[in-house]
Amino acid sequence: MKIPYLDLSVKDPLKAELLRAVDTVLTHGRVLLGPEVAELERRVAEFCGVRYAVGVSCGTSALYLALRALGVGPGDEVVTTALSWIATTNAIAMCGATPVFVDVREDQNLDPARLEAAVTDRTRAIVPVHFTGRLCDMDAILAVAEARGVPVVEDAAQAFGASRGGRRAGSFGRLAAFSLNPMKILRAYGEAGIVLTNDERERDLLVALRYNGAVNREDCRHVSLNFRIDTMQAAMLLVNLERIPAIIARRREIAAYYTRRLADVVECPGSEGDEHIYFTYVIQTDRRDALMARLAADGIETKIQHPLLMPNHTAYRGLPRPRIPVAERVGGRILSLPNHEDLTQEQTDYVASRVRAFFGAD
Ligand SMILES: *Cc1c(COP(=O)(O)O)cnc(C)c1O
Repeated sequence: MKIPYLDLSVKDPLKAELLRAVDTVLTHGRVLLGPEVAELERRVAEFCGVRYAVGVSCGTSALYLALRALGVGPGDEVVTTALSWIATTNAIAMCGATPVFVDVREDQNLDPARLEAAVTDRTRAIVPVHFTGRLCDMDAILAVAEARGVPVVEDAAQAFGASRGGRRAGSFGRLAAFSLNPMKILRAYGEAGIVLTNDERERDLLVALRYNGAVNREDCRHVSLNFRIDTMQAAMLLVNLERIPAIIARRREIAAYYTRRLADVVECPGSEGDEHIYFTYVIQTDRRDALMARLAADGIETKIQHPLLMPNHTAYRGLPRPRIPVAERVGGRILSLPNHEDLTQEQTDYVASRVRAFFGAD
């Protein structure tokens, strides 16, 4: 059996529905910031429980623009986690600010206990990442942020639909950024992202920053580039937004099944009820590399997300070395198993059985 980590091909009936959505856009012809963009912004804001959403070109630009909306620039520091896709750090650095890395907890999310010490007089924002689709400890993070008067921008790229106490990812921070690329929970079929805010002034600023900093598409008041979202992607995103409850339910079902089968041989992600939407299902084991090789030989594609901690990327080697012992240890033990919602029971059974076989269990 061959099990790819992810299969982005689309089958009917979804394919037919997506093509109908694209057909509508081609027919009305408003392909740049058309009515589907405004509709997507309304619906995503409502879903996440915030006032405004601004559709943009990708998750990286969503993060960058959220930081720009806060006025982050040269001379500022922005505190973030050591463990994320490098887009988080790039968004900070492209503003001209200096990224400051904080260690994670065992759950791979920013450790609030180490946050306080990383905040200085120059800290202009804190960017926690809901890594793997599991919410950070936002109460603790917001407590530090509020005490120090520093705004929080959630990198919620991996956590669309995750919630705690009835509050969804993206509604905790001053602003939040989502990636809507084809690998994410709410997905387009190309690049897309969205920024959330409750503040009308920030929303207007984001709308200007998304298109060359121009107000009313005339006067450029802020130096920026073009970060618009495509109407066709927005139209297809509206189709997939309807499927979110089913996608999340199936991912939780797969996660519960893996945990049931594997908890005695590897470390499984904790079961946090509705807080985790399992963007990735990440196990931890000291024998990670050997397990990965054996699963590959068995036809099962797995991933290390990510092989490099953010401070260890070549472009950021010049920064002061942070003390991140937990991220370093966890980074050597993590492995993402295939957990796409379209996997069949037969496929998840094969994955679980091969992992067990590697450990000589059963
Ligand atoms: C995917 C992702 C991004 C970047 O999103 P793109 O749409 O690929 O630009 C940023 N942060 C995290 C945590 C992500 O997973």
